[in-house]
Amino acid sequence: MKITNQFKSILVFAGCVFPPTAALCQVQQTKSHFVVCIDPGHPSEVNSGYTVQNGTTETHVDWEVAMRLKKLLDAQGIRVVLTREIEHEVTRNKDRALIANGAHASLMIRLHCDAGASTGYALYYPDRQGTAQGKTGPSPQIINASEAAAGYLLEGIKPILQRHLVCGGIRGETKTLIGSKQGALTGSIFSQVPVVTMEMVVLSNPKDAAFAKTDAGQSLLAQAIAAGIAVYRLKATASLSATTLR
Ligand SMILES: [Zn+2]
Repeated sequence: MKITNQFKSILVFAGCVFPPTAALCQVQQTKSHFVVCIDPGHPSEVNSGYTVQNGTTETHVDWEVAMRLKKLLDAQGIRVVLTREIEHEVTRNKDRALIANGAHASLMIRLHCDAGASTGYALYYPDRQGTAQGKTGPSPQIINASEAAAGYLLEGIKPILQRHLVCGGIRGETKTLIGSKQGALTGSIFSQVPVVTMEMVVLSNPKDAAFAKTDAGQSLLAQAIAAGIAVYRLKATASLSATTLR
């Protein structure tokens, strides 16, 4: 069987060690081996996220959306792992990845808010390997799987947020401040599972902040991400079945 890059990505997505047997992976899929690691981005060792912007903080928005997202995924029977248990717990970026790895997550979704002159949301994936704390990563398979995951996530997210926030599309982590220095974000370098970071709004933008501060805005962000995860789960499973049947 010809194993395409896309298929390799799906195998990684399915929590398999590459190269696995297709049959083993399909069993894991059909047994609903689907785990989502939700990573509320702050506080970390790099940034507490406590800077007040337009009356709220990044740490608070990240946490509120994470809790709403967890509730939505729980209701669908999807197993959720959080990178921390309470809003104000400091988790190192490396440890966030280790938690997702330990859970054999099918996806790690990292929730952040941006700051600056722009507006809206954007999805970031590791577009090349980076080095941090003596570790170089992620693997080429995880880079491919993360890019595919970002595409699937955006398919679900975009229609729900289109009347509320500007879509900044999909970007490589080399476009981020840390990624431009390290090659990738620390949480991605240590990740052995597909990883996507969402900058949900630009919190320094008053309009974005007004949206992100409200219960309605936080709920809509969570619904959008849950819809994206549903697309990811569906498309990956469909691709796997089609490949296995070939
Ligand atoms: Zn952040």
